[in-house]
Amino acid sequence: MPSRLKVELPVCPEPKCRHIGKQPNGEALKNFCIGSILEGTGHKKRRMVPVVFTAPVPKEGGGS
Ligand SMILES: [Zn+2]
Repeated sequence: MPSRLKVELPVCPEPKCRHIGKQPNGEALKNFCIGSILEGTGHKKRRMVPVVFTAPVPKEGGGS
């Protein structure tokens, strides 16, 4: 029985940001997001919420 790979990632709740994953800033902003000033998505510090993503089952015998 194929089991789908589930992975939990923190997601920024800010609508204009929606950053997924860990912050590049590292430990200082662990579990928080302030957006990206460079990309124009800077915002107030928001606590990221964990969201479970389900990865599609990779096809067997792949290969290019
Ligand atoms: Zn954000």
